[in-house]
Amino acid sequence: MPPTAPATPAVDSAAALARLVRFLSVEGVTGREGDISREITAALKEAGVPAGAITYDDTNTRIPEPTQTGNLIVKLPGTAKKPAKPLLFMTHMDTVPLCAGAKPKVQGKRVVNEAAHAALGGDNRTGCAVLVTLAAELIRQKLPHPPLTLLFTVREESGLFGAKHLNPADLGGVAMGFNFDGRSAADVIVGAIGADRWTVDVRGRASHAGVAPEKGVSATLIVSLALAEVHAGGWFGKVVKNGKQGTSNVGTVGGPDGKPAGDATNVVTDFVHVKGESRSHDAKFVREITAAYKAAFTAAAARVKDHEGRPGKATFHSRLDYVPFRLKDDAPVVKRAAAAVAALGREPNLRVTNGGLDANWMVKHGIPTVTFGAGQNEIHTVKEYVDLTEFESGCRLALALATGE
Ligand SMILES: [Zn+2]
Repeated sequence: MPPTAPATPAVDSAAALARLVRFLSVEGVTGREGDISREITAALKEAGVPAGAITYDDTNTRIPEPTQTGNLIVKLPGTAKKPAKPLLFMTHMDTVPLCAGAKPKVQGKRVVNEAAHAALGGDNRTGCAVLVTLAAELIRQKLPHPPLTLLFTVREESGLFGAKHLNPADLGGVAMGFNFDGRSAADVIVGAIGADRWTVDVRGRASHAGVAPEKGVSATLIVSLALAEVHAGGWFGKVVKNGKQGTSNVGTVGGPDGKPAGDATNVVTDFVHVKGESRSHDAKFVREITAAYKAAFTAAAARVKDHEGRPGKATFHSRLDYVPFRLKDDAPVVKRAAAAVAALGREPNLRVTNGGLDANWMVKHGIPTVTFGAGQNEIHTVKEYVDLTEFESGCRLALALATGE
């Protein structure tokens, strides 16, 4: 065999590209995955996956937001002679709302978007095309492989809900997971940040701002004092304390039901709704940042009073968005991932990310999971495109992972 021969099975790249363009053409923003799940199912059947191997779980019945379907789960029985533990390959089916109306077009070694005001949706239709190509190539080339579970999750973009609420028992006893959701196939993401999302309902008291402002309690003033305190304490934006690092942000400040806070310039604002988040690779520090916001809002509400000494009120709710994780460099899943990247002739780049991934929840469910890229670029923007060299690498990497040791 000449030294330049590929160490990994080849992929029909024209068929893989056709799948990618096909999936990019189907709208399926977060929570509305019905059409794309049907398109993926059709493509799997065309590739030779039996209909009986394709199911939906009931995760959508547990997701607090309306969601058209459950996660799509495909089980491919093992074909290798040597018994081996089942492996999980996963990706998310949904895209961000900005992708509605995308029109993919192949341009050289890229897929770009002809629709001017939309994102393309390579995040994460690249992953969908990688998983379907994996199944298609295993069947077409009759390659021996261990039992495989393919998982296409819903509602990743709106809060990792599909991965969070799934039942791990539905996944066929998989020993480890490979998630496709990123830019470069050589990047092996072995850790990710954790985050809280929180909201505050600040209640003051309305009064005529010109005639009797002293009878009012301004919710706007409470919010301002609270945020000034958070800022002064070093808890806003980039947070560094005692060797720990994290971030926080106030995302929206508004009134009830998506309306602006306050009714008119001559009325003391009686209600403000604030939404924010806290992040860190240290789970305890995430909670400390969130606690600093809670304390600041509570104190500010007590400080602003009307003429009879009655204070305002801040009701603070936080929920764990996802827990941080860091897999060990010598964990079997990381070693298998690094070996597969090396088999492509590339240098594995082990890294951690400051965004949440479905992998955060898989690790929490007890399934060690690494994440790779497959060509997404400039995601969540109208400049989004897919790098076809990385997409092809992602397809070959999946095949190497499924057929390697
Ligand atoms: Zn994604």
